[in-house]
Amino acid sequence: MRDAVTAYVALGANLGDAGAALRRAVKALDQLPLTHVIQASSLYRTAPLDTDDSGREASAPGNDYLNAVVALETALSAPELLDQLLQLELQAGRERPYRNAPRTLDLDVLLYGSARIESARLMVPHPRMAQRAFVLVPLAEIAGGRVSAGQLDAVKHQAIERLGRLTA
Ligand code: AMP
Repeated sequence: MRDAVTAYVALGANLGDAGAALRRAVKALDQLPLTHVIQASSLYRTAPLDTDDSGREASAPGNDYLNAVVALETALSAPELLDQLLQLELQAGRERPYRNAPRTLDLDVLLYGSARIESARLMVPHPRMAQRAFVLVPLAEIAGGRVSAGQLDAVKHQAIERLGRLTA
């Protein structure tokens, strides 16, 4: 029996009924093998934003995003978890016509316990999370110890609106 790890997953959507997509995704995450959702942030609204590894910011195409972060307790390995997230994105009708295209569902592994992973297909902690208020603000809501005041300060110019509860 493998040990369970606490992992944090970012959810985002800006195509179709984004709120419904995020709520469905939380249920689907809770039903993954060896996995439970143990906490969910509020639901947030943010403007589409493109951030790259150098910290450059630009607006991206499409409607505003709805965003949230959930904590999972999982005995899946990090690559297994990534495979499951990609599967859920596909089931939600995700297409990748171009970089930063509007999307029905985006799921990113932010943190996997205290692991540092640098493989060709998986980077953890997520390399661009520190540049994104839409990740840091919901993450800080449910895992204050994993986000510093300085990190929040660095993204405070990015508008983010708390809409209310994500899950009932
Ligand atoms: P995206 O278009 O943003 O959904 O990027 C998805 C791709 O990024 C996946 O095919 C992964 O191989 C790769 N990737 C690298 N690190 C991560 C991560 N921490 N979480 C999710 N996807 C990742």
